[in-house]
Amino acid sequence: MSVRIRFLGGAGTVTGSKYLVEHEDQSLLVDCGLFQGYKQLRLRNRDPLPVLPNRIGAVLLTHAHLDHSGYLPLLAREGFHGKVWATPATRDLAAILLPDSGHIQEEDAAFANRKGFSKHAPALPLYTESDALQSLKLLRTVPMQQAFEPLRGWTARFSGAGHILGAASVLLEVGGRRILFSGDLGRPDDALMLAPEPPPAADVVVCESTYGDREHPEEDVLAELGPALQRVAARGGTAVVPVFAVGRAQALLHAIAQLKASGSLPHGLPVYLDSPMAIHSTALFARHLGEHRLSAAQCRDMAQVARMTRSVDESKAIARQHGPKVILAASGMATGGRVLHHLAQYLGDHRNMVVLTGYQAPGTRGATLARGGTQLRIHGQDWPVRAEVVQLTSASAHADASQLLGWLRSLPRAPRRVFVTHGDMEASDALRRRIETELRWQALVPEHGSTRAA
Ligand SMILES: [Zn+2]
Repeated sequence: MSVRIRFLGGAGTVTGSKYLVEHEDQSLLVDCGLFQGYKQLRLRNRDPLPVLPNRIGAVLLTHAHLDHSGYLPLLAREGFHGKVWATPATRDLAAILLPDSGHIQEEDAAFANRKGFSKHAPALPLYTESDALQSLKLLRTVPMQQAFEPLRGWTARFSGAGHILGAASVLLEVGGRRILFSGDLGRPDDALMLAPEPPPAADVVVCESTYGDREHPEEDVLAELGPALQRVAARGGTAVVPVFAVGRAQALLHAIAQLKASGSLPHGLPVYLDSPMAIHSTALFARHLGEHRLSAAQCRDMAQVARMTRSVDESKAIARQHGPKVILAASGMATGGRVLHHLAQYLGDHRNMVVLTGYQAPGTRGATLARGGTQLRIHGQDWPVRAEVVQLTSASAHADASQLLGWLRSLPRAPRRVFVTHGDMEASDALRRRIETELRWQALVPEHGSTRAA
């Protein structure tokens, strides 16, 4: 029987990445992500998978972001008991991100029940912190470039994708086929992460397309962030920066440390990192030296530039600090987490600023702010948006369209086919067209739920 790929997520959207590879009587999932953004997407998290979790033999995680790993606690609770393979840094990050995700699901459900705005009574969390801790026991680590056997007769190998700490592409060899999953690809010129490694030869490539229809401007993050923060500091305002706890939080801290060192920002400007998760993942940079561009000293500077607020009380105390300040808090698309309280606190004053730092999936609060929305709904209440909204184009952790094409072009030989995934429709289709016209390879955008021969 042939090798087949079922696109159970990350097809026609950037979230919910889940690719089921089937051969004979065995199958495994590449990525196990949560759907995020539009409600109809988030509701997919509640639908049962078209295959029983206990029939799936293994999971390979390309990286720890929740749209690639966040469904794992549910998969495990519903009966999956195979091994979950990941790089060591991905394991370390998942150990931070997944329990927190469970915690947030529980808090949101409790909040909805308290305020009575859930349509289902009572609102149930998708999974709990304890489900997440349970699922972590299934994780097995394997270093980059080391071949391993996730299932009998199947071989896999991770290679660096340069997106966040531990992020990998994965080559899967099964049934005489070589299938390469790009994972999320970083930019070759990122300030923090190393460039993606050149891809190995493959018959079929499943390639992300988050920015498949866009090019990043040449501008660097210091040139964008410096003037924005100078502006808000000069008018005595507060900058709220929704950050992904893993990746952009560290890129921003590193940039702020450089801006302060060069005198572009006042040394005394208070900067808060208000996310226990981001605090932990910042510490991981020092533990995984050599997997990114920072030296041990730069890791130290990055960690020291901000006041780390761990407890909820410390977080609330920030609001009592008068004068200009910068608050970095998760989540990056303002879908949840402590940043919501800061947004509610500071959105209404024109002296303040919101700095958006990366891709904002449609349907998220971040996307509403990015397109100039005048109101933002937080915890069942509408808040007026009077603060200045700045979107950093340079702070993306994703390759742009030309960089994606460049990565594909460096394949040792042309693949038989490229599946373009992990993008909004316009982005995926734009990349598909460029692959067909510029590389002259066969490319297609698979539909959500469809099955294709590999
Ligand atoms: Zn990612």
